Amino acid sequence: GALEICKAFKNYIEENELSHKATLVETGCMGPCAAGPVAKIMPDNVFYQGITVEDAKTIVKEHIMKGNVVSHLLHKDAASGKPVADVDEIEYFKRQKKLVLRNCGNIDPLKINEYIAAKGYKALAKAITSMSSEDVVNSILESGLRGRGGGGFPTGLKWKFTREAESDTKSVVCNADEGDPGAFMDRSVLEGDPHSVIEGMAIAGYAVGAQRGYVYCRAEYPVAIERLQKAINQARQTGLLGENILGSGFSFDLEIRMGSGAFVCGEETALMTSIEGNRGEPRPRPPFPAIKGLWGKPTLLNNVETFASVPVIILDGAESYAQLGTEKSKGTKVFALAGAVNNTGLVEVPIGISLGELLYDIGGGIVDGKPFKAAQLGGPSGGCIPKEHLNVALDYESLNELGAIMGSGGLIVMDEESCMVDVARFFLEFVQEESCGKCTPCRVGTKRLLEILERICDGKGKEGDIERLISLGEQIKETALCGLGKTAANPVLSTIRHFRVEYEEHIREHK
Ligand code: SF4
Repeated sequence: GALEICKAFKNYIEENELSHKATLVETGCMGPCAAGPVAKIMPDNVFYQGITVEDAKTIVKEHIMKGNVVSHLLHKDAASGKPVADVDEIEYFKRQKKLVLRNCGNIDPLKINEYIAAKGYKALAKAITSMSSEDVVNSILESGLRGRGGGGFPTGLKWKFTREAESDTKSVVCNADEGDPGAFMDRSVLEGDPHSVIEGMAIAGYAVGAQRGYVYCRAEYPVAIERLQKAINQARQTGLLGENILGSGFSFDLEIRMGSGAFVCGEETALMTSIEGNRGEPRPRPPFPAIKGLWGKPTLLNNVETFASVPVIILDGAESYAQLGTEKSKGTKVFALAGAVNNTGLVEVPIGISLGELLYDIGGGIVDGKPFKAAQLGGPSGGCIPKEHLNVALDYESLNELGAIMGSGGLIVMDEESCMVDVARFFLEFVQEESCGKCTPCRVGTKRLLEILERICDGKGKEGDIERLISLGEQIKETALCGLGKTAANPVLSTIRHFRVEYEEHIREHK
C-alpha cells in the first residue's frame, strides 16, 4: 500500500499549498518490514509506522501544518509500552550500525545529487586522485573485509590476486543473483542506494586494473534493475563512469546482465558462464576467476553488500572499519530477519553480536511470546542454530563450529511449532529442484536424500534412515562439483546434529 500512501501525501501537501514547506522524498527500504508502510518526517527525525491513506492526511494536517506529533502512529516501546517518536531512540534502529545501508531509507535512489550530498563518490575521487591501485588493495586488505555473499573469503586477497594477474583485459563482476529463500539484502541495497554499488565497483576496477564491470542481477528484481540502470546512466552523464573518470585517465564502465531464475547462477563460475551467453552451469575450480574468469581473462567477483562496503572503507579508512566486528571477522553484516520473529525486516549490525541480541533486542522476540526453537542461517546452504546456542556470536568462525554458516545473511526464525525434519525437507526440495544436473553426486544424491526425508515426513521412515542421510549427505558434500551441491546436505546434517531426536520420533511413530 506504500504507493497509494505516497500519492496521498503528495496530494495533501499540494491541496494544502504546503509545497514551499514540505517535500516528499521516495526512498528505498528503511528496514522494518513488519512495521510498514512507514514514513519519516525530517528534520524532526520522527518515525511513523503502519500508515494508511487516511493516516497520511492526519500526518500532514497535524505534524506538517501544526507541528503536533501523531502519537497513535508511533512505534511503542516493547518494555514500557510508551510511544517513541525519535527514530534513534527506537530499539530496532538504535542497536544497528548502518554502513552498507547508510543511505537506504534516507535518500532518493533515483537522484545522483542526493547520493553525492551524502558523501557519495567521494571515495572514488579519493582513490583515483590520491591513491595508487596498490594502496586501494592494501586498504581493503587491512580493513579485514570478507566476501559477504556467503564464502567469507578475504576480499583484499581476491583483489590482490586479480590485480597481480597479467592481462590486457580484466573485468569486475557484481553478483546480485540473490536467490536464498528469505533473503532480500542485496535487493534492498540496489533499490535503495544503487550508486553505492556502482562506486564500489568503480573503485574495484581502478584497484585491479579492470576496464569493464557487469552486475549480474536476477530478473525477479525488476525495480532493482530499473533503478540500477538509471543510476548507471546518471553516473555516466556526470562523468563518474566511462572514459577518463574525473580527468584521472582511468576509464571504467558498467552494464547489467539479467539472470533468468536459476539458483545455480549465484555460484560464481556458473554466473560467469551465463554472462558469456552460455547455459549457466558451474565449471571446475581452479583456475579461479582471479586468473581465468570471464572469457578466460582475470575477473574480480564480489557481491552487492561487499561492493557497497568499499566506499566506506576507502573514505573513512581501513582502521576505522576494522574496529568493528571480531578479531577475524571485521565490519558489519546485513541480515534479513524472517519467520517467527516480531520485527521482521532488514538489519545491519557489527559482526560478532549474539544471535540472542539480534533476535530479542532488535528483532523484538518471537511472535506471540512463544519459545524460540531454532534459526536457519545462510538459506539452503546453511544450517540451523538451536536455542542452546542462542548466545553464539554471529561471526564466520563461531557459526562454522556449530555446523551453520553466515551465508549471505538470510535468517529464518522458527518457534516451537516448527518440525525440523520438515524444515530440512523444505530446503532440500529447493536445492534438488535447482540442481543443474551436471554432476552425479548432486543430481542423483540430492534426489535420494529427498526421498528418504519424504518418507520420514510421511511416517514411513525405516530403521537406519538417519545413518543413510548422514553418509549420503557427507558423500555429496565431498564429491559434488560446485558450492550448490557441496552445501546441499547442510540443512539435513545440521538438523540431525541438533534435533536428531525429532528424526527418531518420526521413525519410531511409524513402527
Ligand atoms: Fe550442478 Fe549440483 Fe553439480 Fe553444482 S553440484 S554442478 S548444481 S549438479
